[in-house]
Amino acid sequence: MPTTPDRDAVPAPPETVRLRSTLEQLPAYVAGKPAADDGMRRFKVSSNESPFPPVKAVRDAATAALEGTHRYPDAAARELREALGTKHGVDPSQIALSTGSVAVTGDLVRALVDQGDEVVYPWRSFEAYPILVGSHGGVPVQVPLTEELEYDLDAMAAAITDRTRLVILCTPNNPTGASLTTEQIEGFLERVPEDVVVAIDEAYREFHDPATVAGTAGIFRRHGNVVLLRTFSKLQGLAGLRIGYAVAHPRLAAALGQVTVPFGASVPAQAAALASLRGDVQEELGRRAVWIRDERSRVLAALAAQGWQMPSAQGNFVYFPLGEQTASFAEFADSRGLVLRAYGTDGVRATIAEQEANDLLIEIAGQWRQR
Ligand SMILES: *Cc1c(COP(=O)(O)O)cnc(C)c1O
Repeated sequence: MPTTPDRDAVPAPPETVRLRSTLEQLPAYVAGKPAADDGMRRFKVSSNESPFPPVKAVRDAATAALEGTHRYPDAAARELREALGTKHGVDPSQIALSTGSVAVTGDLVRALVDQGDEVVYPWRSFEAYPILVGSHGGVPVQVPLTEELEYDLDAMAAAITDRTRLVILCTPNNPTGASLTTEQIEGFLERVPEDVVVAIDEAYREFHDPATVAGTAGIFRRHGNVVLLRTFSKLQGLAGLRIGYAVAHPRLAAALGQVTVPFGASVPAQAAALASLRGDVQEELGRRAVWIRDERSRVLAALAAQGWQMPSAQGNFVYFPLGEQTASFAEFADSRGLVLRAYGTDGVRATIAEQEANDLLIEIAGQWRQR
């Protein structure tokens, strides 16, 4: 049914408002490209989404919760925070929720960063970071990854000044795939002043080789300045519902609660997140993580056989460091049915998705090398 307009559109009056000059310097968040609508079948593997729809029990919980959406959500999200507290072995007061872990990262910036304060993070990394920091008047301090696309923790430690309030470690790193070990993180923390918060963004944790994944739970218990950032958007398949959280020191978690958007975590999002933590759902999600890891190994082995030298990949994605050829490779793939994520003149990221899409990625990567 067409929407009934309240009134016809009229031209806006002349512009008179003054925007913050900072906005001119902010990079735009380039969302994963949607597939073009030209009749060709395309796979959108540009946003690291799950190829699986939410688990049925989760979908059912979210749908049932819609019945209650004439009411505001529980602002304290008591049930969910208790369940997350149990999962992480912390008090529920140490869980801070919002509309995705990007929003929680923004809350961290608002809670910690005054005008001109610095936030240190690797680059390339998640492109939301410069926007979250810069839009709040913070100064982004981007520390280049090494040539092998690994973390340069010496350079990151050296980049910390007395204006640094926050350091972000994204592990596995989006979009390059590199990850940090427990020892690396512990060694780094020894060089970070205790009043500087270190946020570990673990959006892709479940896709990491479990044998070598960093023991962030232990790290969190040993360091009062460490915050863990987690999302339901990736393995849990709830990207469209928007919910994520931080595990933090009680004082910092309370501060995040002070600055966050009230009622951010919606009624269906809270219900879905809670259902995701059920044992049977966790088992199903665990099987999905194994499937994605196996597919990632299969893709990487095929690419290696074609002669590609790929950086280590521990997320649900692989990264082609193509430099100046980045845009042409993305176009090459697009015209063959695969929508990838291109990063300037750095490289291209492809999400490990349904098997057909992964097969197509292998095929296209092979064609590219033969062209
Ligand atoms: C996808 C992603 C997130 C999760 O964002 P949400 O706001 O929870 O959807 C967080 N950090 C990184 C690095 C990501 O790639």
